[in-house]
Amino acid sequence: MHEMGITNGILAASFDAARNAGAEKICEIRISIGDLTEIQEFALQFAFEALTPGTMAEGATLAVTHIPATSHCNECGADYTHDRFEMLCPECGAFNVTQVTGREMQIDSIETPDEDGTCPEPTATPADGLLTTDYPEV
Ligand SMILES: [Zn+2]
Repeated sequence: MHEMGITNGILAASFDAARNAGAEKICEIRISIGDLTEIQEFALQFAFEALTPGTMAEGATLAVTHIPATSHCNECGADYTHDRFEMLCPECGAFNVTQVTGREMQIDSIETPDEDGTCPEPTATPADGLLTTDYPEV
């Protein structure tokens, strides 16, 4: 599964960042994923659950922000959002457009425990993520 490798990369980078910050535990990892990537959030959450036990991110939350696809039309100057199939300018129909957002895959921030060792309230739970994710049609 593609997402296993992605999650491994996210975790490796997060562990490095947390250790560099002097933390021994990670509470939450916040990432952003562009809608034009092929990454499925439910698969990321599944991989996260599978890969974190026994690591410093055990019990941590993976919070995913989805970034809509936007493009800029080089013909008429329109900025617009679209899905991965409709890339043409909706204003003038031009092919000459520049992708602005939608292909991101980045770690936004990593939450580590407070000085007393407790985690702040998570901004999202894996269960919420699973419930709000659109499952692909099989
Ligand atoms: Zn246009």
